[in-house]
Amino acid sequence: MTDSSVINIDENSLQNNVAFLKKKMGTKVIISAVVKANAYGHGIEQIVPLFEKHGINHFSVFSYDEAIRVYNSLSEHQTIMIMGWIADAELTDAIEKGIELYVFNIERLRLAIECAKQLNKKVCIHLEAETGMNRSGINDEGLVKAISIIKENEQYVNLAGFCTHLAGAESISNHSRIQKQLKKYHKMLTVLESNDIKPTYKHVANSAAAFIYPKARMDIVRIGIMLYGFWSSIEVFIQYINNKTNKTDPLDRILSWKSQIMSIKEVKCGEFVSYGISYLAQTDIKTALIPIGYASGYSRSLSNKGRVLIQGQRCSVIGVVNMNMIIADVSNVANAEVGSEVVIIGKQNDLEIKVSAFSDISDELNYEVLAHLSGLIKRTIIEKI
Ligand SMILES: *Cc1c(COP(=O)(O)O)cnc(C)c1O
Repeated sequence: MTDSSVINIDENSLQNNVAFLKKKMGTKVIISAVVKANAYGHGIEQIVPLFEKHGINHFSVFSYDEAIRVYNSLSEHQTIMIMGWIADAELTDAIEKGIELYVFNIERLRLAIECAKQLNKKVCIHLEAETGMNRSGINDEGLVKAISIIKENEQYVNLAGFCTHLAGAESISNHSRIQKQLKKYHKMLTVLESNDIKPTYKHVANSAAAFIYPKARMDIVRIGIMLYGFWSSIEVFIQYINNKTNKTDPLDRILSWKSQIMSIKEVKCGEFVSYGISYLAQTDIKTALIPIGYASGYSRSLSNKGRVLIQGQRCSVIGVVNMNMIIADVSNVANAEVGSEVVIIGKQNDLEIKVSAFSDISDELNYEVLAHLSGLIKRTIIEKI
């Protein structure tokens, strides 16, 4: 391995997750693959062609720059939907490319239509409703205005969607808040439809909502975390597995992250390891230096807490996590040597380091751990066998 570390993407696992989700959602529900944050750290350029190959034809991103990366990674025209940021200056290009966008205020609606007029094209919008998350979306007043603007400009605007985002469907403690949001959504939808405006697609659900609130599936489910093989929370997994006889997890993790030992050192009892005084050798120990650090996405909060796999054994990260290096205690790994494989996330022989173990220790969400994986690490696809 010439790179200091690599991220491997397992195509079989990806195919398994797509198939599982398609089966659960049924043929009438479109699965939009959420590939924001560099496809949850997996790499947009690697993941998008694989999703396309395995039958996904709807993609959701946060921003215009991500939309362009998806656009350039696809082999045919597929739907791309920007759920968040696009600069005014980029609207024209997005409309020309047929990229769809969320509209969460009247200014954006007016400007998008203005750009569409100049191009003599229709802009495909997803009108986002404020239903109680209090993040983005138009309120009742805005809806009335939006209705009249859409009606006046029917030849330039296509209402592809009417949508909202639920504020924490993965946790039972949010149940009544979510129910209230769903009610509000339907109320606003009724207003829209009673004005003879019919959105092509209604959508509100992310992974958790698609499983916990089946009624929230509607026409499109916007699935991120589960496509990559993770449950949104342990609660969602437990709810799913509860009345199943087969208790094995139907999802497979797609990503693994590997490095190698860069150097081995003997450290005498009484010596400190790495910066500062956070790790004191209590006996003579043997350490392995590994060329990944917080610059690669290995959180500093894993200092003196993280674990890696070397020669089929679990080894402790000792001392603080550096920008580009970590140190592991390999005193009990007789055959640890320069060049030995180090698994940071993933399996080695019978052992596995899961992202969840990672996040349990560092108090980060699965989502955070994945999103922090540096975009500079090489992504390699392990092809279908
Ligand atoms: C990120 C995001 C999703 C996907 O959420 P998951 O929990 O990863 O399935 C869906 N909708 C919106 C608006 C999002 O921002």
